[in-house]
Amino acid sequence: MKEPTLAILGSNLCVRCQATNRRGTQCGKPAMQGKTKCRTHGGASTGPRTQAGKDAIRRAHLKHGRDTLAAKAERSAQSAKLQALEDIMHVIRITSAKRTRGRKALGYVPIKTFEEVHRWIARDLLQKMKAGR
Ligand SMILES: [Zn+2]
Repeated sequence: MKEPTLAILGSNLCVRCQATNRRGTQCGKPAMQGKTKCRTHGGASTGPRTQAGKDAIRRAHLKHGRDTLAAKAERSAQSAKLQALEDIMHVIRITSAKRTRGRKALGYVPIKTFEEVHRWIARDLLQKMKAGR
């Protein structure tokens, strides 16, 4: 457990640097004001500023792409579609099973009437025709 604060000369309390030194122990210096690291351990760093720099950091940290914004949006869209299909099953009385619990996907609109079922199917067919599936 790292020490959060450091007492200088027994009275002046300040944030202690949260970095680990080469010995494996916590750095003994006070952190820079408003930061969690001392100057030696990157407290003065502003991080990447340019778009090229930010992109380089993203590429360096990307491991598998499961949590990219695009992957999350795709999963959310599929989840909303699944929820809509469950709604349709209940509206046309194919099932009387319990509803799926939990948070609904982003973009999910509940389907409660036959007209909404017709509209959803028409929109889905239109999307499939546009995608050429
Ligand atoms: Zn330090």
